[in-house]
Amino acid sequence: MLGETFVVVGAGQAGLQVCTTLRGEGFEGRLVLIGDEDSLPYQRPPLSKEFLLGALEPARLLYRNKEYFEKLDVELMLNDAVTKIDRSRHVLSLSSGNVLKYSKLALTTGSRVRILECEGGDLPDIFYIRSLADSTKLRERMRTAQSIVVVGGGFVGLEAGAIARKMGKSVTILESQERLMRRAISQELSEYYLSKHVLMGANVRLECDVSHFEKLQNSLGVVLKTGESITTDIVVIGIGVVPNSEIAESAGLECSNGIRVNQKCLTSDVDIVAAGDCTMHQNHFLKKIIRLESVQNAVDQAKVAASSMIGDDRVYNEVPWFWSDQYDVKLQIAGVTDGHNNHLHLCGQNENSFSLLYFKADELLGADSINQPVVHMAVRKILRKGLGANSGVLKGMTVAEIIAFSKTESNIQS
Ligand code: FAD
Repeated sequence: MLGETFVVVGAGQAGLQVCTTLRGEGFEGRLVLIGDEDSLPYQRPPLSKEFLLGALEPARLLYRNKEYFEKLDVELMLNDAVTKIDRSRHVLSLSSGNVLKYSKLALTTGSRVRILECEGGDLPDIFYIRSLADSTKLRERMRTAQSIVVVGGGFVGLEAGAIARKMGKSVTILESQERLMRRAISQELSEYYLSKHVLMGANVRLECDVSHFEKLQNSLGVVLKTGESITTDIVVIGIGVVPNSEIAESAGLECSNGIRVNQKCLTSDVDIVAAGDCTMHQNHFLKKIIRLESVQNAVDQAKVAASSMIGDDRVYNEVPWFWSDQYDVKLQIAGVTDGHNNHLHLCGQNENSFSLLYFKADELLGADSINQPVVHMAVRKILRKGLGANSGVLKGMTVAEIIAFSKTESNIQS
C-alpha cells in the first residue's frame, strides 16, 4: 500500500481515530486529513460543560498536538473543505481550489446544528453550540449576560442551562415536548431531571413553542406561539443536529438521514468508508438502522472504517453508550432503551445515585445510571457479552449481584 493515498475528510473525533488506527495497523502510504475548521481535532463534549464555565482553556480540548500528526506522518489540510467527490476519477475538489487524488476515502464529516428558522433567528446574542468557535463566543458573552433562555430541553441545552445557573444567571428552559430529553431517556428519568433543574433555580417550561425573536432596546424578546414574550440577554438554541452528508449525496452514495454504511463501515462505494455522526448504520444490538451522535460511536466506527480501508474483515459490533453532565449529576446511558415495557430501579447510596435497567419482557435493553458508574459498566459488559437476551433474573438482584453477573462468561461464540 506504499504508493497509495488515503484521504480522511473531517478532522474531528472520528477522523482522528481513522488516522491513528490506519497507522497503528501498519498503513505506510500517504495519509491526508482534511478539516474545514482551523483547529486540530478537539473534544466537543466539554463545549457545553467545563469549557463553557471557563474551567478549561482551548488547548486542553485538543486530542493531540501538532507533533503527534508529524510523528504519525499525517498531512493536515485545515481550514479547507471538500466540496466535491468525483468517484469515477477518484478525485476530490477543495474549497481552496486544490484537487487531490485518493485511492481510498474516509468520510468523517460529522453533523451540524439544526437551525431554528424563524423571524429574528439571526439576531446577535442568539447562539448555537457545535464548534470551539461557537462555544468561545458564547462563553465570552455569558460573562456579562444576566439572563439566558435555552431553547430545547435536550442534552446540549440542559448542560448549557446548568452551567449558566452555576454562573448565577437567570435561566429559562423552553422545551416543545411534554418532557425533557424525550428522545433519549425514560419518563421517570425526565421527571428526575425536571425536578433537578427546577431545584437548582431554572424556570423550565414544557410544551412551549417559540414563534420568533425580536430585538428590544438592550435585550432580546423570545416570542412564544401563545403570544407571550420573554425578555432575555441571550438565547442558546439546542434543537438537535443534522448529518453533513451533502458531498456524499451529490457523489451518488446511498444516503438517508446520513451516509448509509454496512457493518464494515463501507458505503455503497467499496473505495469509500464513513464513520461517526454522519453515518446511518444497521446496529447489531438494536436490530435497526440508526444514526448515533456520540463519542463512542465515532471512535468505534472509525476503527472499523480504518480496518476496512486496508482490507481487514472487522465489523462494528459495539454497545452504544453516552454520558451527560448536568450540575452534580453524571448520567451514563448504556444501550438504547426505547421499546422497553418494564424496568428495575436500583438504588445507590443516596437519592442522587441510582440506575434504571430497562427490559422488554425479560430481555435487558440497557440502563440509565445516575452517579452510579459501576452499574453502567456492568450493564455494558452484560450487553457486550450477549447476556442480556434472557436476563429477567437481574430483576431480583442487588448492585453487587449484578456486577458479579456481568462477569459471567460470554454467550457470544467467537
Ligand atoms: P465531528 O466531531 O463533528 O467532526 C466532523 C468534522 O468534519 C468537523 O470538524 C466538521 O466541520 C468537518 N467537516 C464537515 N464537512 C466537511 C468537509 N466537506 N470538508 C472538510 N471538513 C468537513 N457525545 C457524547 O458521547 N457525550 C457527550 O457528553 C457529548 N456532548 C456533546 C456536547 C456538545 C456541545 C456537542 C456539540 C457534541 C457532544 N457530543 C457528546 C457528541 C460528540 O461530540 C459527537 O458525537 C462527536 O464529536 C462526533 O464525531 P465525528 O467525528 O463524527 O464528528
